[in-house]
Amino acid sequence: MNVQQLNKEYPLIEKLQKNEELIWFNPNLVKTEDALRNVSLTSEMVKEASDRLDRFASYLQIAFPETTKTRGIIESPLVAIPAMATAIQDFFHINFDGELLLKCDNDLPISGSIKARGGIYEVLTIAEKLAIREGLLVEADDYAVLANEQMKKFFSCYSIAVGSTGNLGLSIGIISAKLGFRVTVHMSSDAKQWKKDMLRDKGVEVIEYASDYSAAVEEGRKQAERDSTCFFIDDENSIDLFMGYAVAASRLKKQLDEQGKKVDAENPLFVYLPCGVGGGPGGVTFGLKLIFGDNVHCYFAEPTNSPCMLLGMMTGLHDKIAVSEIGLNNKTDADGLAVGRPSGFVGKTIEQLLSGSYTISDETMYILLSLLTDTEKIQLEPSALAGMLGPIHLTKNDIDLKKATHIVWATGGGMVPGHIKEAYYEKGRQFLNY
Ligand SMILES: *Cc1c(COP(=O)(O)O)cnc(C)c1O
Repeated sequence: MNVQQLNKEYPLIEKLQKNEELIWFNPNLVKTEDALRNVSLTSEMVKEASDRLDRFASYLQIAFPETTKTRGIIESPLVAIPAMATAIQDFFHINFDGELLLKCDNDLPISGSIKARGGIYEVLTIAEKLAIREGLLVEADDYAVLANEQMKKFFSCYSIAVGSTGNLGLSIGIISAKLGFRVTVHMSSDAKQWKKDMLRDKGVEVIEYASDYSAAVEEGRKQAERDSTCFFIDDENSIDLFMGYAVAASRLKKQLDEQGKKVDAENPLFVYLPCGVGGGPGGVTFGLKLIFGDNVHCYFAEPTNSPCMLLGMMTGLHDKIAVSEIGLNNKTDADGLAVGRPSGFVGKTIEQLLSGSYTISDETMYILLSLLTDTEKIQLEPSALAGMLGPIHLTKNDIDLKKATHIVWATGGGMVPGHIKEAYYEKGRQFLNY
């Protein structure tokens, strides 16, 4: 299909081309029960991932003492942000119903972003398989043994490769190096310098590409194919990554229960997830739909220059279309979201589960970043603010939000060096003062 045909069939494309902040509602959304029948992934697979993370808890406590507080479970707080809710409504001159909560994945231990869920989980899965295959481990063991020098030596015979815009590389680099693997991260040109520096500091080999994320992934894939001891972590197609993200849902349910927040037909849950290639937000969406069914409404958020998942889902072309084909340049300061072509695997999996997807400009992300710092003293990276515009988009489109709970997924920022956080904040302040 050529672009002119696409434009005719999907009038929203013209608005995407003009960099408008807009929302697309998914016409293929159906009852969760019916949607799940068309998905080959299951709740048993999520449970298996959750059990695997439990087995690794004793190891993680030794390898990363910061996880002792949570007994080796990598999880983040869920907090109310009422002052931010007021500030958003004042800034946009739009009032929205419902309570605003922040899921603080910027506070996730080990790598300070949502990638500490999927990325770490997949490396642990590889480590477990190798150790069991060699007779060095059985599932009933205390996995603390994995911290032994002898195990590290064993893992050093293998390598891990990954292509990344930044945060996936950080999470995989850190956990792989800790276990003893050799690790190579193929970074796209938009990856931030400090992320590359931090990885090199930890003994990770970083290879930089002048081109974008998809090219970095392709190179990683090729390198791994040549070497049978190299495992390639495939951000675009990995079921393990997806399952690592999906485990977030049962943990979130527990937090909502503990905080007395009801989710049912009268009290719907709205979740706003920043989206890059789609694995993180897709996995969380899948997990949430398994648990909350029709009572949860998941929306993705993407930069106005990189709405790859919106474009792929809307046209049904998934990974067969890239934002460059409609003339968008995929340039954004939200480096975690700088992806021009979505995962086809994720798009097809959530085709009937996702409520919609919207866009947000870099300027709006910076403004929200500064507002959040001023009101709640929470500092995120720009990507992680994308979810914050959700209640505004929905209110503008007359979605009933009475008795709603809104969860903005704060996907990253925990590793950002202080002086860069400061610069982010100043940039937002400048936009606010115009
Ligand atoms: C990676 C990332 C996302 C999106 O995850 P995908 O799996 O690429 O869709 C969102 N926010 C941040 C900060 C990220 O690093």
